[in-house]
Amino acid sequence: MTDHCCEAMTGQVNWHCDQHDDPFACPDALIRFSTKFQEYGLIIHDGGTSIIGIDFCPWCGRRLPESQRDRWFDELERRGIDPWEDQLPAEFQDASWLASLRQE
Ligand SMILES: [Zn+2]
Ligand SMILES: [Zn+2]
Repeated sequence: MTDHCCEAMTGQVNWHCDQHDDPFACPDALIRFSTKFQEYGLIIHDGGTSIIGIDFCPWCGRRLPESQRDRWFDELERRGIDPWEDQLPAEFQDASWLASLRQE
């Protein structure tokens, strides 16, 4: 499990609701955390799946960890994988790819 800046954020990231399987359908779900990109976003409840990326925690005000989106694409490229065409290795579908980088 990833550590987050504060309890409020951790609670939001680990959100679950008995009535809604989909966070976009749940009015109480506020944050969407992308594990593979390490990105935080505010869910916009407009009936779709819109998200606004945030750099600071709305609750404690701390700067959130930097997005790893660019590195994610760089790493795939380094391995000769095309994210749009090829099947993604399992570790690139969550935060595991970051852990494997740290071990190198
Ligand atoms: Zn709900
Ligand atoms: Zn926080």
